[in-house]
Amino acid sequence: TTYLDNNATTPCFDQVISCVANSTRAFYANPSSMHKAGQRSRAELERCRSVMRNLVKASNYGIVFTSGATESNNLAIRSIITDYITASGKLNATVITTPMEHPSVYETLKSLPAVRVHMLSVSPIGLLDLDELNDALKDETVAMVCVTMANSEIGTIQDVASIAQACRAAYVHCHLDMTQVFGRYNVSLNQLRADTVTMSAHKFHGPKGVGALFYTLTRPPPTPCTTGGKQEQGLRGGTENVPGVAGMALALQLCADGLARDGAAERMTRLLQGIKVGIQGIVPDVVFRGGVPDVDGYHGLYQTVSVVLPARASQLAAELSNLNVFVGVGGCACSKGQHSMTLEAIGASQEEMWRTMRISLGFMNTDRDVGRFLKCMRVAMARIEHVETHRLE
Ligand code: PLP
Repeated sequence: TTYLDNNATTPCFDQVISCVANSTRAFYANPSSMHKAGQRSRAELERCRSVMRNLVKASNYGIVFTSGATESNNLAIRSIITDYITASGKLNATVITTPMEHPSVYETLKSLPAVRVHMLSVSPIGLLDLDELNDALKDETVAMVCVTMANSEIGTIQDVASIAQACRAAYVHCHLDMTQVFGRYNVSLNQLRADTVTMSAHKFHGPKGVGALFYTLTRPPPTPCTTGGKQEQGLRGGTENVPGVAGMALALQLCADGLARDGAAERMTRLLQGIKVGIQGIVPDVVFRGGVPDVDGYHGLYQTVSVVLPARASQLAAELSNLNVFVGVGGCACSKGQHSMTLEAIGASQEEMWRTMRISLGFMNTDRDVGRFLKCMRVAMARIEHVETHRLE
């Protein structure tokens, strides 16, 4: 098979699979138990916390282990809004965000009656405007800013350092969803200085159902938004997923090693370029959104490209799937490919959304995948054209 849908999720590294299995066996005891077995599980959990803190240079941050990015975004948003309402005595809170967010951000905001959403506009490549953000921050009812650093559909990377700085200057909480960034870039949270940051292991070849919320130690910790035990510094009740956390820490380590030693980013960049050039040879009038190379100072995820085709993307993806080649379509996995707020925000019509296919690479992709993809793409396009011709006859 050729798997090119790594922004939806990534396959687990083999070493991570073994690590999760071994950890399940070795650290079966509850980390809250007082006996020696429990203390071993506790020590393993804390070892992983420290590995992760070092890897993303987050000595100034606390870490809450969660079930993934959806929960981390929920925890950050719900707790910051609760704290703001309690502390300010106001009835409403404004949240500044963008149309480039994952549903776990905008559906959470929509579900909170006290929240008024200030939606920033974005440029045709999905970048928010810092002047517009600074203007919006003048509103006295702003409780927080929620921005996704790297968009999963077209790969746009926001200038998060400037966004975090603008928030600090306005004394407003800055929440960044960096789900599509960890593992693919070297990150220093200490340098970035956002207040809360979201991570999910399955986007960097770790296990599914485990993630983290980083929170700055320079502010009071977030208020828990679920009730239960006192695990995770009292911020998230429930017996900790020690094997999942161990797998996440190892996956992050392996990605860092891959970036530092094996030139993984350069390799994926080159593979993506090969795919783009190859597609142009098959589909003459194709339009690409996102991906390298840099145009007008824009930079996006080096392993993501969104392609507008002269055919229905779901039909093409189905043909490719029959050939065991897996890609994303339209708004991709989370919206089941139906509608995309991101594509709409950058000016795509509904028809263009239907014609949009996403290719996203991972650490495991090779030249062979590029070759197979292009071969199958040629076959799939020919089949679609054949069906279309018969339909018209
Ligand atoms: N945030 C972003 C930017 C994502 O791309 C995703 C997954 O697609 C999520 C959040 C949700 O992640 P999870 O499946 O870990 O809840």
